[in-house]
Amino acid sequence: MQKLVQGVRRFQDSVFQDYQVIFERLRSGQRPQTLFITCSDSRVVPGLLTQTNPGDLFVLRSAGNVVPHYEADGKSSDRAAEATIEYAVEELQVRDVIICGHSHCGAMGAILHPNQAARLPAMQRHLATVSVHYRLAELDRDGVNDPASRLHAIVEENVLVQMANLATHPSVIQARAKAQLNVHGWIYHFESGRVDSYCKTRSKFVPLSTWQAQTSSKQQQAA
Ligand SMILES: [Zn+2]
Repeated sequence: MQKLVQGVRRFQDSVFQDYQVIFERLRSGQRPQTLFITCSDSRVVPGLLTQTNPGDLFVLRSAGNVVPHYEADGKSSDRAAEATIEYAVEELQVRDVIICGHSHCGAMGAILHPNQAARLPAMQRHLATVSVHYRLAELDRDGVNDPASRLHAIVEENVLVQMANLATHPSVIQARAKAQLNVHGWIYHFESGRVDSYCKTRSKFVPLSTWQAQTSSKQQQAA
């Protein structure tokens, strides 16, 4: 705790002044362009990764960056997440949603090795909503036994599953129908800084730098 208290003092004494103008401007309200959904893992730091300022990212976090499937009867497994998504898309009118999984994800590891969550009943219930079992069956069928490869495959699959879950939310459906919202799937490799982005055309994750090049190339062609 002492480290945090010292950190707050250092922030107030020598860091806050660098952001004072931004925070004063934000007093009148926030207008983030992006909803960033990621894991609660301490190694994932959205603002640092994206080099954004306060006010730029609306953030939703949970173990395993899980997005609940929308339940119209109000019996959602995660009402807080439903409300956060609705507020970001409907009220703040964010332009992009990024669902960001990450390397060495403990939650995804617990799906591969359920005994790791044996003493965590709430975590077991939470992870039971993650539908990656058919991908696990594929890995078994293909003889993929290497633990790192299996974890990487599940981390990727989980992002796709959560993108599909996000697409069930009414606010998301409406915003996408009006072409006002784009949904992106990312994998952050925190040990190297690499970020992969899901490419729908190629049905696989590609380095984000490649994705940007493709986008700017398309824009150049359209111009
Ligand atoms: Zn994680």
